[in-house]
Amino acid sequence: MTIDNFANPWPARENIEITSVRAITTAPEGTALVVVRIDTNVPGLYGLGCATFTQRWKAVQAFVDEHLSRLLIGRYPGDINDLVRLAAFSGYWRGGPVTNNAISGIDQALWDIAGKRAGLPVYELLGGKVRAAADTYIHAAGKTAEETIDQALGFIDDGWRHIRLQISTPGGGGYGAPKVPTEYPNAPYRNGWSGRDYLRRVPALFEAARDALPDNIELLHDVHSRLSPKEAVLLARSLEQYGLYFLEDVLPPEHWDRLPEVRAASPVPLAVGELTTSLTDAVRLVRDGGVDFIRSHISDIGGLSPARKVADLAELSGVKTAWHGPGDTSPIGAAANVALDVSSAAFGIQEGHIYNEATHDVFPGTLRIRDGYLTPNAAPGWGIDIDEVAAKRFPAEISGHDEWAAGVRRPDGALEAP
Ligand code: MG
Repeated sequence: MTIDNFANPWPARENIEITSVRAITTAPEGTALVVVRIDTNVPGLYGLGCATFTQRWKAVQAFVDEHLSRLLIGRYPGDINDLVRLAAFSGYWRGGPVTNNAISGIDQALWDIAGKRAGLPVYELLGGKVRAAADTYIHAAGKTAEETIDQALGFIDDGWRHIRLQISTPGGGGYGAPKVPTEYPNAPYRNGWSGRDYLRRVPALFEAARDALPDNIELLHDVHSRLSPKEAVLLARSLEQYGLYFLEDVLPPEHWDRLPEVRAASPVPLAVGELTTSLTDAVRLVRDGGVDFIRSHISDIGGLSPARKVADLAELSGVKTAWHGPGDTSPIGAAANVALDVSSAAFGIQEGHIYNEATHDVFPGTLRIRDGYLTPNAAPGWGIDIDEVAAKRFPAEISGHDEWAAGVRRPDGALEAP
């Protein structure tokens, strides 16, 4: 008699089993989204989880369909902890965004099923609310300070209290703001990005913004991992007088071991973590004193299960959460962020994204931000479905991020982290 190692390792509490696991891709905003759907032998009982790694979505899709589905079919969906550990350990090598996004898709889909079985929203499975809703921040960006401030004023009219301000820097490699013509016509790479010019331009933006915007509006800024440790301190000090809510991603992940010294010298709170690609990465950021806000992209560290551990550690460490949440997170992932936000005492702020109407068509139940706040669905699970016919109308394509990243260079031609 052979032993089936993929069978339930103990008797299932109920006669429910997983019958299929598959990745669904769609791009209603042009950005490839990956969602995992897990079906069961109970008619109508299925779950959805976010597995979106938009730059490498085909790899995640193959990982789910070819490697992970065979581990789960026939298993009891209530054993979430065992199933996500099996998904993580069975490949021997662990971590990384392809692996962890695939596991996240499974993890979140199993939580969705658990919520539907219980008749409860996921945040109640996590212990219930400690707040009514999650306050969000939104992105304002322009070619000039005036353009950025105009956008910010529009968001303030719509109820936001926290706004991330970005401004174009010369060349094609500025982050979060439109391209502007080069100012380095004689450089080897004429469309380059200069860190030194960036350090001069950003404080001028915040000086103008503080003059133009009400005092009670919280301002944020995202460096996008472009500075050296000492440049990060220079920027943080030059922004001190503008009272930033947080300064994001001053260093690339390769230099995260320098964050504690940068944070010690920084007069403004530091937010780091969207590039964490494992639970251990996120834990080190919190535990080693490098961050005031941890902001992992939760599918990149393996989903809701690892993220709740980070939230608990943050709560015990005096660190706040600010989960990554722009348009390269599916509405399912956004709902997972909010479930953590409303159930964790460590919550600081949530990155917001305004999904287009096509996304609402593909994902009925997608959350809408009102007066700057995100409120989770009260329906069981995530309270969000997928219309696969609508999803097919927006086929995913290979990300344009590769083309953009290939052009992000210093004026001397050296490739810069995008
Ligand atoms: Mg960011």
